[in-house]
Amino acid sequence: MALIVQKFGGSSVASPEHIKRVARRVADTVEQGNSCVVVVSAMGDTTDDLIELAQKVSAVRPAREMDMLLTTGEQISIALLAMALQDIGQDSVSFTGWQAGIRTEAVHGKARITDLDPSRILAELETGKVVVVAGFQGITDDGDITTLGRGGSDTTAVALAAALKADLCEIYTDVEGVYSTDPRVVKFARKIPEISYDEMLELANLGAAVLHPRAVEYAKQYQVPLMVRSSFTTNPGTLVKEEALMEKGMVVRGIAHDLNVAKVALVGVPNRNDNLKVVFQTLAQDNINVDIIVQSIVHNDCSDISFTVAKDDLTRTIEVLGQLQPRLGAKEIVCEEDLAKVSIVGAGMISNPGVAAQMFQALTENGMYIKMVSTSEIKVSCVIDAADVEKAVQVLHTSFGLDAVEAATVAK
Ligand code: ADP
Ligand code: ASP
Ligand code: MG
Repeated sequence: MALIVQKFGGSSVASPEHIKRVARRVADTVEQGNSCVVVVSAMGDTTDDLIELAQKVSAVRPAREMDMLLTTGEQISIALLAMALQDIGQDSVSFTGWQAGIRTEAVHGKARITDLDPSRILAELETGKVVVVAGFQGITDDGDITTLGRGGSDTTAVALAAALKADLCEIYTDVEGVYSTDPRVVKFARKIPEISYDEMLELANLGAAVLHPRAVEYAKQYQVPLMVRSSFTTNPGTLVKEEALMEKGMVVRGIAHDLNVAKVALVGVPNRNDNLKVVFQTLAQDNINVDIIVQSIVHNDCSDISFTVAKDDLTRTIEVLGQLQPRLGAKEIVCEEDLAKVSIVGAGMISNPGVAAQMFQALTENGMYIKMVSTSEIKVSCVIDAADVEKAVQVLHTSFGLDAVEAATVAK
């Protein structure tokens, strides 16, 4: 008998009919002789609707109260799924994050899980029940409700699978697995049968929404085998594991894109050895995450320092740099918002020279201007105009031989 953690995302529980279908699927898993813990997200677009609701009542939206509000979405789903299971004769019990023993740090909106005590879940499994757990939420040591960041139900599922030493964690969603790129952008995206944790982590961090980056981090840390598959079909999905076979002749596994990119440049900064330290230490103290950094010497005596941040951090970044400007002696602070980052990922890149060159050629030949570049052992990212991003993904997909013969299956 295996212990399986199954997670169903918002689109998989979007209506009463969807919930009944999920209940049937879970009951079938139990009938095949398995124990099951099920993690669910809020129904359909509930989380977005709740955010909109908050915007309608107040300009001030403290993170603590937002967490209190948003966690109600998942609470609706767990109660309904537990009932739907009982309706078809499968004993079940629903748990909120804290009832499931999920402790987090005291950070609202993007808390990390600090501890998970699965004893209550284990006791209920012993009695033959399916335990239905609310995704995306936990509780601090002081008893405050927190959320794990958008898309965080994946992380709840993997953390539970790790704590329960489950045999498998299945992530059910609205596409049939992890594809070579977002199948909503490239119709002929290719389903990837298996992918390594490292490659998946890069793709998730670089914008592939199919898995929450922290879920992949946990899966790697605790060696949890992850299966991403569709809740709308029974076709095989994608297995995420330590090492994955690459299809013959391929170097690039996948392409991700991210529109949450803003570029900031400090122009004409008189050269001093500690400029970079001063700028980035100050931003770090303000919790501003910096991505790509480029320093270019303009003259012998001055440089430009450019970097990217998430769009939500742009206003604060400009404020912080404004305060630093007199000390640095920078001539100007310039920013650009209509940008995107497109990235290619593949573990084989490190031993294949010319991959970055092929990327630059494909983009420039198609009239796209590359504004910034960053590389690691298994990825190359380029910052380009936001208007070009879908074309860039398509061009790169074809250039690296990723186009599938058949169109991808996408729900909705
Ligand atoms: P859920 O609500 O089930 O958590 P998400 O919307 O968070 O679903 O994630 C699934 C979506 O991720 C897909 O509908 C797809 O558009 C998007 N996506 C982005 N990149 C990829 C990729 N490489 N492979 C598959 N899906 C991707
Ligand atoms: N409901 C939350 C969100 O929409 C968490 C999740 O779906 O994973 O982000
Ligand atoms: Mg998701």
